[in-house]
Amino acid sequence: MIASAKAGAKVIHIDVMDGRFVPNISIGLPIVAALKPIAAEYDLILDVHLMIVEPERYLAEFQAAGADVLTVHVEASPHLHRTVQAIQALDVLAGVALNPATPLSSIEEVLPMIDLALIMSVNPGFGGQAFIESAKNKISRLSKMISDCGSRAIIEVDGGIKSHNVADVAAAGASLLVSGSGVFTSAAPVANKMNELNQALAMGPARMV
Ligand code: ZN
Repeated sequence: MIASAKAGAKVIHIDVMDGRFVPNISIGLPIVAALKPIAAEYDLILDVHLMIVEPERYLAEFQAAGADVLTVHVEASPHLHRTVQAIQALDVLAGVALNPATPLSSIEEVLPMIDLALIMSVNPGFGGQAFIESAKNKISRLSKMISDCGSRAIIEVDGGIKSHNVADVAAAGASLLVSGSGVFTSAAPVANKMNELNQALAMGPARMV
């Protein structure tokens, strides 16, 4: 986390997995709380992605632990409008995430009120998976929906982001790009991988032709 901050990261994305909504179990409240002082020292935003069932039960606790952004899954939130209101009442930014098979229409009604829409470009649960190519078209369509309804929401993309696809994803309309195995690898220092991503972004999608 410190290495990525020193290499220019502004946001730390934290995947919280419960072994029920997704098959894997990852980290929870104590780790978010432990990361908060480091985030504050390096001026980092803590972007907490709740891959858990009944996320509404834990919103206040994650906010108290230090989350700046709380993102819930539409598939885990039958009362999504209420859940988004509950997040915003805690004075943190509200995000809604969609799995690869979930249609954009599922967030149409809350799009004007949310701060962030997260497109999953892998099936959630494990790191290191390959980017699902159809996500690019989904990002483009979401970008149009956002501008059509006048929403302030930004598009975040999570899963399989690497230097070979990061520019395409940004060109499709994403402005917050999550990279796990694309940055944290034994093959090279974090700073090198961050530089690779930033250079690919700066060159833009034309380089792919
Ligand atoms: Zn995530």
